[in-house]
This record gives sequence, structure tokens and C-alpha cells, in this order.
Amino acid sequence: MKNIYDLSINELKEHLVSIGEPKFRATQVFSLLHKGYEVMDMPTIPASLKEKLSQDFYTKLPQIKTEQISKDGTRKYLLELDSIGTLVECVLMTQEYGKTVCVSTQVGCKMGCVFCASGREGFVRNLTSGEILSQVILMNKLQNDNANTMRIVLMGSGEPLDNFDNVVRFFELVNTKDGLNISTRNISLSTVGLPKQIHRFADLQTGVNLCISLHASNDMVRQKIMPTARKYPIVELIDSAKYYFQKTGRRVIFEYSLIDGVNSALEHARELGALLRGFPSHVNLINLNPTGGALKPPSREVAMKFMDTLIKSGVSCTMRKSKGQDIDGACGMLKLRKTV
Ligand code: SAH
Repeated sequence: MKNIYDLSINELKEHLVSIGEPKFRATQVFSLLHKGYEVMDMPTIPASLKEKLSQDFYTKLPQIKTEQISKDGTRKYLLELDSIGTLVECVLMTQEYGKTVCVSTQVGCKMGCVFCASGREGFVRNLTSGEILSQVILMNKLQNDNANTMRIVLMGSGEPLDNFDNVVRFFELVNTKDGLNISTRNISLSTVGLPKQIHRFADLQTGVNLCISLHASNDMVRQKIMPTARKYPIVELIDSAKYYFQKTGRRVIFEYSLIDGVNSALEHARELGALLRGFPSHVNLINLNPTGGALKPPSREVAMKFMDTLIKSGVSCTMRKSKGQDIDGACGMLKLRKTV
């Protein structure tokens, strides 16, 4: 059964007309739906229409199975998405400048990065555009402040560019004027780095911020920790990032998780500097969040030296604070422990 959150406002119009309802109802229903009202709870909509919609579509918002609250205020939710009990995680973070929702785009992941827990149980399925959207709607409903201050990051479980069409459609839905109306400038998509899809995404000129998970300054190191690096050399990846910048004017962000004894030596910082110098980009450094196994983050001191060296080589860079580590809600930690 189709999820009602998958529908664009025009599709909802077409559906309502096809069942003999006036068109104006579509804007009302769409708007209420995106504000967080479930169909059966909608005010001002006739009961007969609510019944019809409930018969034609899956109309539930994700059900919260568990909520974990970190010392830093980050909240991690385990959500049930459908009638067969499909589970994904979603994280709500509070920063000085507002709230950020981190959404999942797939159940599991195919990419197999060794430091990340999300793909360890394999790949199950893509989320639909409505299933990605309904995570945002639910998070927005759980808080009282203005939806416009909300930022969205596609950094939960899954590889967004491996679920291309649904993700692009999600951007259209979340950006709709009568819905949440969240600007694509406030959305960041993080990808493992799939050059062809990055080109395709650039051509769409969505205005979304692109983050590329680089995590290494040369192919040898990258291949050790990211299986996709065997297919796509770093030069090809940087070329696609340059294309993204040319097409969109948006500065690309490279993510670099520091792993002790793997990618955090000063020679790596210099190599990374040489690779990115002169390209309008920014590096987000983060100390690895431990996900079991042998990989560990370097000491704070080593991390700071890495950052200094990179800055000295002319690359813009910041060290990101990890959020929600104590509840396994931080980068790469989703799906680490079974919580039900
Ligand atoms: N599939 C997307 C989204 C992944 S999660 C991607 O690959 O970008 C978002 C970020 O967290 C990515 O940069 C990912 O590489 C990083 N990450 C994964 N596991 C991590 C860990 N254990 N510690 C720190 N960052 C991690």
C-alpha cells in the first residue's frame, strides 16, 4: 500500500479529484499532514474523506519504539516505518543555531565502510521519499519551535546517492511551500563518494550542501577502510566534487574521521592539503567514534596537530564535536546495538 507521505501536492490533488473531492482539499490535507497531523486526527476535514484516505494509503507517522537522550541533549529514536515492522534510526541534535535532524535513507547499507556500524547487518531496502520525509515531520512535531530553524542532514543509516530518485523527491517534498517549506540550503547530503551520481546530482542544481566522506589522503589508505575506494580513485572523486562546485557554486565539504595509526599522521595531513589546496572546499574533521573492533580514534593532541598542519597547508577546516556518543547516536554508531 502506498504511503500517503510519498505524494506530492499535485498527486494528492489528482487523487482527490479522482475520488470526487474538491481540489482545494488537497492543500488542506497536504499542509496538515506535513504539520504532523495524522489523517484521522485532522481538524476541518470531513470524516468521510479521512476514512477514504485511510483505506487508500498507509497513513501512519513512524511509531517511536525507543527514545534515548544523551548527556549533551541529543536524542536518538528507533522508528517503525510500516506495518511489517521495518525499523530505522533518526537523531535530533540541538546546536546553538537551532535543531538538526539526522535522517536515515536506507535500512542497512551496501557500502561496507569498516568503521561504520550501519552496514554491518547488510542491506535491507531503500526508504521511499515519504518515509524519509515522515522522519522530519515527526521530529518537527515533537518540538514546539519554528520549523524554519530546522536543518536536515542525510547522515543516518544508508547511502543517499544509492537511493537517488527517492532522495531527490524527498528534497522536493520537504521544500514544498504548503508543507514544511525547508530550504535546500539548510539540507546537507553526505555520500560515500559515488562520482557518477555526484555528477547527476550536480546537474539537478538542488541547492543542497554536498558532503563527501573522504577519510583518507591517498587511495591505498582509503581502500583499506572503504570498499568503494577500489572502484573510484580519489582523483575521480575530487573531479566530481569540482564539477559539483562549478555547477552549483556550493562549496563542497569533505568529511574526514581520524583513525589512529591509519589516516591521522602528519604526512597524511600534508598529503590532504596538497590534494585540496586551491579548491573552494572545507574539511570537517571528526575523531572516530568507536564502533567495536580494532579501530580507535587518535589522542586529542594528535588530532589537533593534524588540524594545524592542514590549516597551514592552506585548507579550510574545523574539528567537529561528536554528539550523542553515549547513546550510540553519533556518526557511524547507528545500528550498533539492538535496542529492542
Ligand atoms: N553513507 C553516507 C552517510 C554516512 S554517515 C556517507 O558515507 O557519507 C555520515 C558520516 O559519518 C560519514 O562521513 C561517515 O563516513 C561517518 N562515519 C561513519 N562511521 C563513523 C565513525 N565510526 N566515526 C566517525 N564518523 C563515522
